[in-house]
Amino acid sequence: MTEEETPITPAGVALKLGQHLSTTDGWAGLVQQAKAAGNTSFAFFPRSPYGRESKKLKTQDPTPLVEAQRDLGWGPLVVHAPYVYNLAGKDASKRTFAITSMQDDAQLLSTAVPDGHQIYFNFHPGSHVGQGIDTGIELIAEGLTQVFEKTPSNVTILLETMAGKGTEVGSRFEELAEIIARLEAAGVSGPGAPGIGVTLDTCHVYDGGYDVKQNLTGVLAEFDATVGLNRLKAIHINDSKFGFESHKDRHAPIGLGELGVDFFREVVNNPTLKKLPMILETPPRDDDVDEVALLRGLAE
Ligand SMILES: [Zn+2]
Repeated sequence: MTEEETPITPAGVALKLGQHLSTTDGWAGLVQQAKAAGNTSFAFFPRSPYGRESKKLKTQDPTPLVEAQRDLGWGPLVVHAPYVYNLAGKDASKRTFAITSMQDDAQLLSTAVPDGHQIYFNFHPGSHVGQGIDTGIELIAEGLTQVFEKTPSNVTILLETMAGKGTEVGSRFEELAEIIARLEAAGVSGPGAPGIGVTLDTCHVYDGGYDVKQNLTGVLAEFDATVGLNRLKAIHINDSKFGFESHKDRHAPIGLGELGVDFFREVVNNPTLKKLPMILETPPRDDDVDEVALLRGLAE
């Protein structure tokens, strides 16, 4: 059966699923791309990957995107912070740049949310660049505490699970739990205030040493015991080019990597995960398989 013939069940239609879209044509362009690709949640960068503000997003009216979320039941959207932000870096001026940029991004994103909805703002916790994991965690929690001072309550900030490449913080669930505990202790996240959550990247966790392929249920139980499943807000749904615990962070197209199609069938049918927005960040593939349709076709 080719993917065009895969029947998509109501469970497949219900998935909040999509890709990383371009902001070249502004808010309305995001809506057009999402409609064309059958996306019901998606990601985008709020500014250039190098940190320059997007004139289009800053100056255009976000109403088309607000209406699409409200009227078509899209979202929550999972916006991706530029990779250049490092809250755990050595250079204080670069940390300050990351903090003020995240504050500006959060304020911009808060204008693109329908009343009563949330928008998710996902970021890589940071790299400690040799300062050690404890210093990294401390700097990230300090930086986020400042970010939260100017984050509107309709924006939830998500820490991404990392592959543990180089000096990345956030490849162990305990590290994410510690950052969250510090924010709670600082009183900056809670009822009526902006929330903090986690994005689970299927490639990164497998790469980082959690065997989701053999034991997804067990890994989720471990996540629940350390971070709490109530904090799990989004999925980056990527296959992995390299094997278990390789710490390489190389995504592969769905079904063409080490995780494989059966794993993704389990993900889209998992009672906890299937309710969360799922974002594809997979590289281009040689065949013409539509990965959004493929995943929707796996839902039972
Ligand atoms: Zn990411």
